[in-house]
This record gives sequence, structure tokens and C-alpha cells, in this order.
Amino acid sequence: MTRVRTALVIGGGIAGPVAAMALRKAGIEPTVYEAYATPADGVGGMLTVAPNGLDALRIFGADEAVRAVGQPIEHMVMADGRGKRIGAIPGLAGLPPSQALWRSDLYRALHDHAVAQGVRMEYGKRLVAVDDTPAGITAQFADGSSASGDVLVGADGIRSTVRTLIDPDAPGPEHVPLLNFGAAADIAVPADPDATYFVFGKRGFLGYWVQPDGRTAWFGNLPHETPMTTAQAQEVPAADWLRRLREVYADDVPGRDLLEHTSADRLIVLGSIEIMPKLPRWHRGRMVLVGDAAHAPSPSSGQGASLATESAVQLARCLRDLPDVPSAFAAYERLRRPRVEKVAARAAKTNNSKSFGPVATTLMRLLMPVAMRTFLRPERTLGPEQRYRIAWDEVVAT
Ligand SMILES: Cc1cc2nc3c(=O)[nH]c(=O)nc-3n(C[C@H](O)[C@H](O)[C@H](O)COP(=O)(O)OP(=O)(O)OC[C@H]3O[C@@H](n4cnc5c(N)ncnc54)[C@H](O)[C@@H]3O)c2cc1C
Repeated sequence: MTRVRTALVIGGGIAGPVAAMALRKAGIEPTVYEAYATPADGVGGMLTVAPNGLDALRIFGADEAVRAVGQPIEHMVMADGRGKRIGAIPGLAGLPPSQALWRSDLYRALHDHAVAQGVRMEYGKRLVAVDDTPAGITAQFADGSSASGDVLVGADGIRSTVRTLIDPDAPGPEHVPLLNFGAAADIAVPADPDATYFVFGKRGFLGYWVQPDGRTAWFGNLPHETPMTTAQAQEVPAADWLRRLREVYADDVPGRDLLEHTSADRLIVLGSIEIMPKLPRWHRGRMVLVGDAAHAPSPSSGQGASLATESAVQLARCLRDLPDVPSAFAAYERLRRPRVEKVAARAAKTNNSKSFGPVATTLMRLLMPVAMRTFLRPERTLGPEQRYRIAWDEVVAT
């Protein structure tokens, strides 16, 4: 056993509360420090939690909290802009459905579940520096306060401060030349209620599912070479973005209707898609990274939140079982790195197919039926991602 008794968890997004719940189950007392003054309600667009993510949450009973705010998705449908199906990917045999949900609902569900389990959360605590010594680590916050513990877990997202404290030369996020948008349109388009649709339209890609409240959640992209943060993209009036999106989807079914029934004040503007390149260092001294801080695949992987969850749980297992901090962090990296890098590589290929243009979308339409029978075989591509299970009760080998 390590002598780790306490953990400072930096970041109260997804990986933070999950790491805290897993650490508690491993017998380590965590406190979560979140930079913002309040929980992250109302932030972000929509995402899915895959069966592997749900199974990791099951270890400390948080899967049901997520199902309570999610919508089960049994299959994916590919269609062209005329509404014609060009392929379908069924859910994998024997697995529970993925859950489609709003990021803010996921944040809230995980946060509430962690608090109900006794996790301490402190808000308005932005980490700015650390004092890492052989005896313990002290976090310094922007408000002048500090906190000490045995280890510090950087769950502070894609623009992680902990990552830079571990390695000042660490690469930052890279941008994909696509801007991300979404909304809940005030219309229910004809659709299976348990399917996510991916439409390769005339000028652009659009995804959607119909919600039980009769609205349709949609997400789409606009090509954009220069990187734009969420804040920069939100400086442009939402009505301008909406006009451009309406032009892109004007000839597509159901894109045209979805954009018609989306108002500017409801449009979610997220800026450029960002991904993390391969990171040379995941830990140093008593600091270690989880979630997007270490590995943020493209949103098109559908695995960001699920991988963040898996990593947080595996880190807790390693700290529970290994004799000291360096060997626990080394085992954690060994368990996680190959897996997250493989998922990131698959997602990068998906992005290429979303970087559209009429030629790409026509090719997609023509190739999809063949692809479904050959290289896109769901069990082969998605099986290794979604069937991954964490053997919580097994002792981690050195
Ligand atoms: C548009 C979009 C769509 C996505 N779709 C999917 C999907 O379909 N499926 C999926 O699984 N994933 C998806 N993702 C990815 C998913 O949202 C992330 O992988 C997930 O949020 C990562 O969780 P995290 O806790 O590591 O980071 P975050 O959720 O970013 O949380 C980090 C937290 O740390 C806090 N913080 C930052 N700096 C500090 C500091 N210095 N001190 C204290 N606190 C700090 C932040 O305020 C934040 O609350 C999507 C992402 C985007 C942008």
C-alpha cells in the first residue's frame, strides 16, 4: 500500500468529481478545488457517455445518476442530405446503450453524486502554483489560500495549469479547423427515438437526435482555419453564426428545418474543436494528470468523457495497490497511455471525413455502404473501445 491518504483534485468538471469518488472508494480522502465560483451548470453542448464510461461509473454507483439525465441511444444512422439512409451502425451485442446528454446535465449529475457520497468541493479556487516536496504537496490558489495533501491530481481540462507545472515545455491543445455549434431546435423531426443521426449533407455534416421533450438536439460544424476560443467565437453575434449555418444546411433534410427552428439566443457557440497531441509527461513528483488535461480526443470519438472517467478510476486503483507514488503513477500511465492514444488516432480519421466539402460528402455517400461491410465493421472499430472493463477488485501489478 502507498502511504497516500489525501488527494488534492484540481478541477470540478467531469474527471475531477469522478476521480474524487474513485479515490474515496480506494480509501483516499479527496478534496476537489474548482476555479469557478459555482458548479458548471449550463456550460457546453451535448455529448455521449459510452458503455465503457458507464461501466467505470458503475464501480461507485454513479452510472444510474448519469442514466437519469441521459437518453439511451441504441444505434447510429448515416444519411445523406436528401434524407436517404446510407448506413446504420447497431449497438454492439450485449452492451447497454450509450447515453446522449447535455454536458451541463452530466456535470451536475456527477457533482451531486460526489457530494452525496461525502466528497468535499471547494469553489473559487484557481490553482496557480505548487510546492512539491518529498513529504507532501501544497497547492497555491489565486485567492491567496493554499491546501496540502499527499498527491495532486490535475483534472483541470484541456488548458490545464497542472500540465504546465509538471512540464513547462508540455504541448498545449491543437485545433481542428472546424468550429462547433449546437442547439435544441423547437421541432421534432421524424426519427427513431433511440438513434443518433449523422447526415453527410450537400455542404456540411450535421448530427442530431430527437429528445423526449419533442425538441431535436443537433450539432454541426463550420470550417474555420484560424483557431477561435469559445470566448472569441461568442464575440461574433449569434445571429451571424446562425445565418451562416442556415446557408450551409439550406439544401439538407432535416438540417434546413432544424436551423429554421433554432433561435439565435438558443445557439450554442463553442469555438474550434481542440484535441491534445501526444503528451511526453503525465506525472512528476506528486502531481499527475487525468481527463482532458492528459488526453483529449476529438469530440467525434464520442469517448472524451468516457476516457476521462476510465483514467480517473484506474489512477485510484494504482494509488490503492502500489507501494509508493512513483510506481503508482508509472503503472497508471502504463495502463492508460496505449488505450487513449489508440482512440485519439481513430477519432482523427473521423475528423477528416467531417472536414467536408462537396467532394468529401459525395465520396462519403458512395463509400459508406462498402465501408460498413469492410473497414468500418462496428465490432472491430467500436468493440475494443466500448467493451473495455476495469477490474476494480483485481490488484494492479507493479
Ligand atoms: C463540443 C464538444 C463535444 C463533445 N462531445 C463529447 C462526446 O460526445 N462524448 C464524450 O465522451 N466527450 C465529448 N466531449 C469531451 C468532453 O466534454 C471532455 O472530454 C470532458 O469534459 C473532459 O472532462 P475534464 O474533467 O477532463 O475537463 P473539463 O470538463 O474541461 O473540466 C475541467 C475543470 O477544471 C477547471 N479548471 C481549469 N483550470 C483550473 C485551475 N487552474 N484551478 C482549478 N480548476 C481549474 C475548469 O473550470 C473545469 O471545471 C466533447 C467536448 C466538446 C467541447
